Amino acid sequence: MRTIEENKYLSELLFSDIKESPQDILKKYPERNLKEGELVLRFAPSPTGFIHIGNVYTSLVGYLLTKRSNGKFILRIEDTDKVREVENGISQIINGLEYFGIHFDEGMINDKESKGDYGPYIQSERMNIYKVFAKDLVSKGLAYPCFCTEDELESIRKEQTDLGTRTGYWGKWAKWREATFDEVKRALDSNWTFVIRLYSNGNIDNKINSKDLIKGGITLSENDMDSVLLKSDGLPTYHFAHPIDDTLMRISFVLRGDEWLSSQPLHMEIFKALGFKQLEYGHISPLMKMDGDSKRKLSKRKDPEAAVSYYIEKGYPVQGVKEYILNVANSNFYDWRIQNPDEDILEFNIRLEKFNKAGALFDISKLNDICKEYISKLKAQEIYDMALEWASKFNEDIHSKLINQKDYCISIFNIEREGSKVRKDIVKWSDIPSQVEIFFDDMFMDMDKESVDMDKGLQKNILNDFSDTYYPGDSVQEWFNKVKDVAIKNGFSVDSKEYESNPKKFKGKVGDVAMILRLAVTGKKQTPDLYQVMQVMGEERVRERIKGYINTVLV
Ligand code: GLU
Repeated sequence: MRTIEENKYLSELLFSDIKESPQDILKKYPERNLKEGELVLRFAPSPTGFIHIGNVYTSLVGYLLTKRSNGKFILRIEDTDKVREVENGISQIINGLEYFGIHFDEGMINDKESKGDYGPYIQSERMNIYKVFAKDLVSKGLAYPCFCTEDELESIRKEQTDLGTRTGYWGKWAKWREATFDEVKRALDSNWTFVIRLYSNGNIDNKINSKDLIKGGITLSENDMDSVLLKSDGLPTYHFAHPIDDTLMRISFVLRGDEWLSSQPLHMEIFKALGFKQLEYGHISPLMKMDGDSKRKLSKRKDPEAAVSYYIEKGYPVQGVKEYILNVANSNFYDWRIQNPDEDILEFNIRLEKFNKAGALFDISKLNDICKEYISKLKAQEIYDMALEWASKFNEDIHSKLINQKDYCISIFNIEREGSKVRKDIVKWSDIPSQVEIFFDDMFMDMDKESVDMDKGLQKNILNDFSDTYYPGDSVQEWFNKVKDVAIKNGFSVDSKEYESNPKKFKGKVGDVAMILRLAVTGKKQTPDLYQVMQVMGEERVRERIKGYINTVLV
């Protein structure tokens, strides 16, 4: 057991370069001047180069809550795990979230710079701050250096396992917890590597009742682990950085993933040791996915749709993704949207207590439906603009077609866009190539064509008869009457009742005739309205296609 004086002296030995006190630091981070209800929240990712769709989920919630309250949303970068860090990791996060319209009021603005008065906003630049608080804890006997090697820790673990005891560095197993000053001094003089650990005063048998902003009332056991606060390289662990950063940055409450829920007692003990006011937590459950009959976490390794880059590359409409995420967050968003079809999502009163407590299902097919619905409501010009933006990054060929044949493209997008039967076949901008391929001769040539089983001579007659009367100035009714004439002339029925009562009398129905026209002109059995398709393609292309079909398929 060390005396008060010994601990004070030890803190000087360990942190001889640290001259500031916790009070000096706290003075630099004064209370914010907030009006009633204004929230300050932060999003605190690590720059690992991978942005999970769950990050969009969490940060969108923080963004909306702060925007709605006229508060501040902060981007803090947690880069204390140097192994997982990638180059440009910060700008990747910023750009990824920016894509979804999530902006920050404070914090990092690129890989190097930040804005705001509560920085630095990147943990590697806050080393001095963490050391000031670590020094203070050591001097008060609330933290201490531990010189255990990996091997020693492993053998403690093994012994605990053999005895069937809880594993970890706690109580009597915490070898350096009660080391004398001389023992510590000798280790330091021998230049042994050390970490700084919490001197836990908790008791695992005591229960803490706490109210989580999302999960509601929860009961946890007190912490009794002497967890690492500063690693041997001097960098803080998440457990130590979180109470310090969130206190100094004057955060209203902590919104974070529920993988941290089990560490909450540890965090609460560190808050207490530091003399800080306890912050409230809202633990967000992970996004889940159905795998066969069971639910599991959306996984970075197994599910391509876990990555934000998936949505960006595939060109999911941002608004569609945001709407779906809000549906997942608060299921009443759906009804709100029906009642308020034109409102900005900022008008939606997102509520933490309405979150799914166990883990919400992220269902890509539902997302697709929402995106389809969203795109179906856009004007052709809006589709053009968004598709252009996507193609400028991801599809050079489509990009140049959009640029060079703008009017043609807009008229393609305008097919079945107005009126009662609006097309709902575009989910995302990467669907555009397959949507427009029938309209561009080079793409049409490369396309796999479909076919029907019908006598070639008969097909030829149908196409020739149609060509003879085809006139692009016809109204839809005139056009259809001509298709019917072709049908009758070639022995097809134009009256379904009549056809059903005596099918043998006919070669087929008028729909079969239209199918031949469709196949000749588009190469596909299913397309948007054929009349409109022909109108957009124009006479020359329609005639060329029919000729081409006769000369290649029907020979
Ligand atoms: N860097 C931590 C993470 O990415 C942050 C957790 C938190 O928001 O406090 O999980």
